[in-house]
Amino acid sequence: MRDADVVVVGAGFAGLYAIHKLRQQGFRVAAIEAGGDVGGTWYWNRYPGCRCDVESVDYSYSFDPELEQEWNWSERYAPQPEILAYLNHVADRYDLRREILFNTRVISVHFDDEAARWRVGTDTGEEIVAQWCVMATGCLSTPNTPGYPGIDRFAGATYHTAQWPHEGVDFTGQRVAVIGTGSSGIQAVPIIAEQAADLVVFQRTPNYSVPAQNQPLSDDYLAEVKARYRERRQQNRESFLGMHLVPNDKAAAACTEEERVSAMEARWAVGGLGVVGSFPDTMFDRKANDVVAEFVRSKIRATVGNPKVAEALSPKGYAIGSKRVCVDTEYYATFNRNNVRLVDLRATPIEEFTETGIRTAGETFAFDTIVFATGFDAISGTLLRMDIRGRAGRTLRDEWASGPKAYLGVAPAGFPNLFIVTGPGSPSVLSNMAVSIEQHVEWITDCISFARHEGYSLVEATDDAQEQWMMQVAAVAGVTVWPSGDSWYTGANIDGKVRSFPIFLGGVGMYRQLCADVAAKGYEGFTLNRP
Ligand code: FAD
Ligand code: NAP
Repeated sequence: MRDADVVVVGAGFAGLYAIHKLRQQGFRVAAIEAGGDVGGTWYWNRYPGCRCDVESVDYSYSFDPELEQEWNWSERYAPQPEILAYLNHVADRYDLRREILFNTRVISVHFDDEAARWRVGTDTGEEIVAQWCVMATGCLSTPNTPGYPGIDRFAGATYHTAQWPHEGVDFTGQRVAVIGTGSSGIQAVPIIAEQAADLVVFQRTPNYSVPAQNQPLSDDYLAEVKARYRERRQQNRESFLGMHLVPNDKAAAACTEEERVSAMEARWAVGGLGVVGSFPDTMFDRKANDVVAEFVRSKIRATVGNPKVAEALSPKGYAIGSKRVCVDTEYYATFNRNNVRLVDLRATPIEEFTETGIRTAGETFAFDTIVFATGFDAISGTLLRMDIRGRAGRTLRDEWASGPKAYLGVAPAGFPNLFIVTGPGSPSVLSNMAVSIEQHVEWITDCISFARHEGYSLVEATDDAQEQWMMQVAAVAGVTVWPSGDSWYTGANIDGKVRSFPIFLGGVGMYRQLCADVAAKGYEGFTLNRP
C-alpha cells in the first residue's frame, strides 16, 4: 500500500499538468496510468493521419512562458508523433515520470468514510491511499468496438484507431476496410488509400468535414506568435472555444447572399473549424445553420466526381456542429481514386463478419485488414468502467444512471475530495481542450491548497449545487442546436447508453469566470469540513 496526499489517475495532457501543479504546491503525489508511457490520447491514437485540429500554437500548455518559447511546432496542425514528443518533453522537463505508475489500470476508487481517505485499487494489486483524488482519465479514452456477429471469426488483421500498434501498420498491396467516418476515419482514409490496393469505407452517418489547409509553420510566423504569445493565450482563455477563430458579428439572416458566400469562402480558405462559426447564429438558428450545412454539401459535390458518391457523402437531416465537425486533408477527393469505394451502411447494413471479410445486406467483401474507426464511449465511459464509490457507498454508476453530472463539471456530489478534469457539465470536448484542462487543473489544485491552508479536510459539492448547475448546463444547451444530433456528445453512439448533453455551452471565458466566482465566495456550493 502506498500513501499520498493526492492520487492522480491518467497521464495525458491533464494528468501531467496536475502532477506538476500539485508538486509545485508541496503535495505528495502518486499517479497511475494504464498506458506504458505519458501522452494519453496522443499515446494511444497512432493511426495514419492522426493530428490535432486545433492549431498547435494554441493546442499546447500555456502555464510556463519558457516552455512555449522553447518549443517549435512544425505544422499548423501537428501530427500525432510531434504532439507525443511534446508531451514527453514536458514530462522530462518537469521530471514528472517519477510520480507515475505505468501499465497500471485503476479498477476501484472507494471512499473510506471513517478515515476520510480514498482507497484506489489497481489491476496489478497495488493500492494507493490518498486524501484527494484527481481523475484525469480523459473524455475520449475508452474505445468503442461494435459487437458485430462473427467479429472473432475474421482471420485477417483488425485494428482500432485508438489502440494502434506502436510499430505502425503497412497496408501496401492490401485489401482494407475502414468502418467509421468520424474525425479518426476521415483523417486515416486518405493515407490508407495511398498505400492499400483496395480500400472500402463503411459509412453509417456522413459527417460534415472542412479542410484543414494544413501547412508548415515558417520561422517568421512562429516568431510573430511567440512575440505576442501571452496576449494570444489570454485571448484564448477569455474566448468562447479557447482558440483563435475569425469572428463575424453579422447574422446569416442579416447578410445578403453575396455576403454569406463571402463569409464562408473566406473561412473555408483559412481552413479549420472556423467555417462552422461563419455567422453568430449558426449555433442557435436552424436556418442559419442550414446555410453553412448547404455550403459544405456544395463543396462535397464540387469535389467528388461521381454524383451518387457525392450524394452519399453529403450529411443531411442534422445540424452542422451537432456532431463533432471533422477537419480533413483531401478526404472527399480520396473518393475520386479508383481503388476507393464507399459503402453506405444505411442502405446496406453490416450483417456479419466472416472468416474472410464482411457481409452486408447486399454484398460479401474480402479483406486482409479491417480498421475500426468507430470512436469512443465518451465523457462518462472511462469513469463508469471503474468501481467508484463515494460517501456511504454511493456509487458513481447509480448517481449517473440518468446521465453524468458534476457540480461545475468538476466535482460530483457525494464524492468528497474527488475531482474530474473536464468532467460532465464543463465545456470539455466543445473547446480547445488544452485551455480547458489548464483551467480545471488550476482551479482544482487551488481548491486543494485552499483547503489545506484553511484546515479543511473535506470538500464536497452539495447535491443542490450540482442539480442547479446541471439545470443551467441543460438550459444553455437547450437554446442551441448542438444537442439535436445523434452524436457521442449525447451518448447516442453507444447502444443502450442513456442520452444527455453534459457539456457547458456558455463558452470557456464565461465558464472560467463562474468557477472563479465560486472560489472567491469561499467555494460556494461546497460543504467544507474540518476534521
Ligand atoms: P487523455 O489524453 O485521454 O488521457 C487520459 C489517460 O488516462 C489515458 O492515458 C488513459 O490511459 C488513462 N486512464 C483512463 N482510465 C484509466 C484507469 N482506469 N487507470 C489508469 N489510467 C487510466 N482535443 C482538442 O482540443 N484538440 C484536438 O485537436 C484534439 N484532437 C484529438 C484527436 C484524437 C485522435 C482524439 C481521440 C482526441 C482529440 N482531442 C482533441 C481530445 C483529447 O482527448 C484532448 O485534447 C486531450 O488530449 C485529453 O487529455 P486528458 O489528459 O484529459 O485525457
Ligand atoms: P466518432 O466521431 O464517434 O466516429 C465514429 C464513427 O464510427 C462514426 O462515423 C460512427 O457512425 C461510426 N460507427 C460507430 N459505431 C458504428 C457501428 N456499429 N457501425 C458502423 N459505424 C459505426 O469517433 P472518432 O472519429 O474516433 O472521433 C471522436 C472524437 O475524437 C472526435 O469527434 C474529436 O473530438 C476527437 N478526434 C479529433 C481528431 C482531430 O482531428 N484532431 C481526430 C480524431 C478524433 P455514426 O456517426 O452513425 O455513429
